[in-house]
Amino acid sequence: MEISRRQLLRASVLVGTAGSGIVPAGERRATGVTRFAVRRRQLKLTHTWTIARNSSDVKDNVFVRIERDGVVGWGEAAPNVRYGQSAEQTMAVLEKARKIVEAGDWLQYVDLRERWERELPEDSCARASLDMAILDWVGGRLDSPLYRLLGLDPGKAPVTTFSIGIDSPEVIRQKVEEAKDFPVLKIKVGKDNDAEILAAVRDATDKPLRVDANEGWRDKQQALEKIQWLAGLGVELIEQPLPAAMIEETAWLRERVEIPILADEAVKTAGDIPRLAGAYDGINIKLMKSGGLQEAIRMIHVARALGMKIMLGCMIESSVGISAAAHLSPLVDYADLDGNLLISNDPFVGVGVERGRLILNDRPGLGVRERGDAS
Ligand SMILES: [Mg+2]
Repeated sequence: MEISRRQLLRASVLVGTAGSGIVPAGERRATGVTRFAVRRRQLKLTHTWTIARNSSDVKDNVFVRIERDGVVGWGEAAPNVRYGQSAEQTMAVLEKARKIVEAGDWLQYVDLRERWERELPEDSCARASLDMAILDWVGGRLDSPLYRLLGLDPGKAPVTTFSIGIDSPEVIRQKVEEAKDFPVLKIKVGKDNDAEILAAVRDATDKPLRVDANEGWRDKQQALEKIQWLAGLGVELIEQPLPAAMIEETAWLRERVEIPILADEAVKTAGDIPRLAGAYDGINIKLMKSGGLQEAIRMIHVARALGMKIMLGCMIESSVGISAAAHLSPLVDYADLDGNLLISNDPFVGVGVERGRLILNDRPGLGVRERGDAS
């Protein structure tokens, strides 16, 4: 006989094992039980997602669920081919992380992170999922939203852009209409139809635009002409116009254009930032590149010390990853946290969005719960 999850939960509460983690606050107590579960889930994109380097309809992300003392923490990894990652590899790294996490003191998350950075194979999205899960748990354990533990004002969370992937003019117009509640749009370019895309967008709206070429332009002269043309169309910043390795060429470009140039593919962790300071006006921080919230916070401080602008971005992620990043958003200039809005089967509920503004709730930790879980 197959036992439903609900029956199992009820049974576990009855026998007092608190096995689900979905335990009413009043019943929380130290059980000493530690659980660590990893699960792969397929996220479906509402529209085929096309950027300069590839196209996809689904995204396989990996979710981590940890539990101790009746408190649950969630984390998410979004493996990205640009960084040589895959769901299989990430699952394998997380399996290696099990011992470290199970043995660790989760309240001492700084030491715990140092340990997995030292002992696990380099896989930034796997590390991000561990860091998120631990900090979600810490928030739950201390009964405080993460932004409060960090001393941040949720009222300062910025507006997020809504991203329009590369598409035909008809679909672009439809996407712009679907994004009508968002005051600023982020437009993907970098293939051979940039002019067609911008014409379709400008045909449909006069909103401020941010443009991301995803390393799609190959030489500095071409990039210069493109950026000058985009600036004339009301584009307020350009992200990663040239390949990440072309730092000198980007510095050349920066001397000749008016709008800010932001690094995305060229920057992963804090150590990458100083050498980019003369070439870029700012950086796009993503938890999946940095290896989590702790490193993202370091990056924010390093970038600020160098006088650089900061965008907080994302991969295609559910509300777990997006909510985690949103807790840091009061610290940044620009948010591009819309990965959860581009999928049709988000398994989680977390940060909200109203007319583009990110709305952080007052639930503990990351403030996320599984969709359909009413507790
Ligand atoms: Mg980008």
